[in-house]
Amino acid sequence: MACHFCDTLHEGVAVPERTAARCQCCGVVLYQNRPASLVRVTAFSLTALILMGIVNTFPFLTMEANGIRTELSLFRAARELIREGSPAIGWCVAVFTIFAPLAMAGGMLYVCGPLLRGRAAPGARHVARWLGRTEPWNMIEVFLLGVLVSLMKLGDMADLKFGVGFWAFAALMLCMAAAVAGIDRNELWDRLEVAAE
Ligand SMILES: [Zn+2]
Repeated sequence: MACHFCDTLHEGVAVPERTAARCQCCGVVLYQNRPASLVRVTAFSLTALILMGIVNTFPFLTMEANGIRTELSLFRAARELIREGSPAIGWCVAVFTIFAPLAMAGGMLYVCGPLLRGRAAPGARHVARWLGRTEPWNMIEVFLLGVLVSLMKLGDMADLKFGVGFWAFAALMLCMAAAVAGIDRNELWDRLEVAAE
């Protein structure tokens, strides 16, 4: 493998847990073996999937203005937007807050779960490659920030309360970040290469 900083070529060897392989020339970290990486990714992905269920079941937000109370869940918000004339925004909400995290967490669980027992699930290499490509599109934290900014503006007009769905979504964001950061990509590929199908 080549150092991404200085292009010096190295032979990739397995490193013990909690250590990193550094470039001989410039000292940049080439890859690392993070502690209990597979268990961590599996646990965080599973938690993310459970949280997604909570996010889409419980109200995200309760709004009260002029005596009218409205409860809104993420799923309902996306559906209403699609129906009420803003399909592009509605689909964006659905894709980035529901389908993308679901596919991401489900994919990581599919790849890393069987690896815990030294096996690769059928097509795991394809899923891992696809996960690597879609990772930059996982931006639920941007969505959360957008929601907070809009709520600040809405706060003057209506009485707002965050529901269980909102807190579950915030926890989901942390879980997804922890799952993605839990394993080094090179380590994942090494483990996939030695695992039996
Ligand atoms: Zn280097």
